[in-house]
Amino acid sequence: MDIKTKELVNKGIMLPLMEEFYTIQGEGNHTGTAAYFIRVGGCDVGCHWCDVKESWDANLHPPTHADVIVENANKYAKTIVITGGEPLMWDMQYLTASLQNKGLQTHIETSGAYPLSGQWNWICLSPKKTKLPLEDIYEEAHELKMIIHNKSDFDFAEQQAAKVSKKCTLYLQPEWSKKEAMTPMIVDYVMKNPQWKISLQTHKYLNIP
Ligand code: SF4
Repeated sequence: MDIKTKELVNKGIMLPLMEEFYTIQGEGNHTGTAAYFIRVGGCDVGCHWCDVKESWDANLHPPTHADVIVENANKYAKTIVITGGEPLMWDMQYLTASLQNKGLQTHIETSGAYPLSGQWNWICLSPKKTKLPLEDIYEEAHELKMIIHNKSDFDFAEQQAAKVSKKCTLYLQPEWSKKEAMTPMIVDYVMKNPQWKISLQTHKYLNIP
């Protein structure tokens, strides 16, 4: 990467773009909503069950000007989901301000492990044990989405729920490879603890991206 590109990436004016696509948001609060997904490369959180490990190495994904990304997004939905990888490894201010200037809604899916940047209409925080969120994001999250891979994840979910604001919606979502074992446990848990809701990866059931 040349020095000028690196500078633009450091400022968030260019971003390592892994993929972008128009689909249906499959998970969490906005399940069922048509949305344009922008998947930014780079993640060092290291979830062993991660289903987008190709995203981890940012160097594999071409630095792309945010103006081009915004132009593409603006042809499709009003809801734009920025995901990764871990998008907060990059400065999200330029991209999100540009999207909002076009009247688009900015949503993020983040582990919270890096400082919060950008202007967001919706923050989905999905904490991971391997690299915990920074403190500031808990208060800002609209949605807490906890992935349940084994029984001990229920305790971790409660620890994280104790840190978010009262208005934050709480979701438990079975990790896809363990869904047969974990979904019945989540159903039982939510019935006993109705402050939680179930989130399913409906896009995987629908066989869409
Ligand atoms: Fe994968 Fe997301 Fe975990 Fe990063 S934070 S390893 S992208 S599941």
